[in-house]
Amino acid sequence: MNVPDAVHPLPVELESDGETRRFWPCAVETDRGLVLVDAGFAHTADQLEAGLAEAGFDLSDVHLAFLTHQDGDHVGGLAHVVSETGAVVVASERAARVVDGSEPPRGSDSGDDRYEPVAVDVALGGEATLDTRAGPARVVPTPGHTPGHVSLYFEAASFLLAGDAVTAADGELNGPDPTFTEEMDEALASVRTLSELDISRTLCYHGGFAAAGSDRMAAIVADADADIRR
Ligand SMILES: [Zn+2]
Repeated sequence: MNVPDAVHPLPVELESDGETRRFWPCAVETDRGLVLVDAGFAHTADQLEAGLAEAGFDLSDVHLAFLTHQDGDHVGGLAHVVSETGAVVVASERAARVVDGSEPPRGSDSGDDRYEPVAVDVALGGEATLDTRAGPARVVPTPGHTPGHVSLYFEAASFLLAGDAVTAADGELNGPDPTFTEEMDEALASVRTLSELDISRTLCYHGGFAAAGSDRMAAIVADADADIRR
């Protein structure tokens, strides 16, 4: 998997309806420790820790938890991480209201009910940049899957941590999953925004890594436009 050296995918698995589903949180090295990007479910916490250990880290290395959005498959494991590490929690303003318990989570991917709420330390109203060992990671608003969804763009590495803005399957990059996307038009507009960046490799929370980026995203948007005209 050709992700930047400082990025450590931490796949976790869950059995549901007799199927094994895999999810892709990851950790990004910084000079101050790890940024955890999404946290999996409460009951995949041990897998997350095992993944960190395999990458040569410990849960206590996490100093910041960054959320792409508020769905339970991304946030359910956060309370454990924060109680163990005291990590600073960063999320978009829209996501923060759900993460902190002010608003209920939607009937999401996870099918989960209310996960344990966690206080959000930094609620982002727009773009921001995190300093990492894979270069600056720009927070790019990519609404559609949820209103406050964000992705992380590593320009120096031509790399995107997509969250759920796009998906992957068997190494192929695909568009947002219509079943779980609140506003498909908005989600496709976000894919268009991403297609204008310089991305050649993408890690999706659903489907994992794809050696593809801007060009494929432009094609996804063009296909969707063609479908609308048809
Ligand atoms: Zn998801």
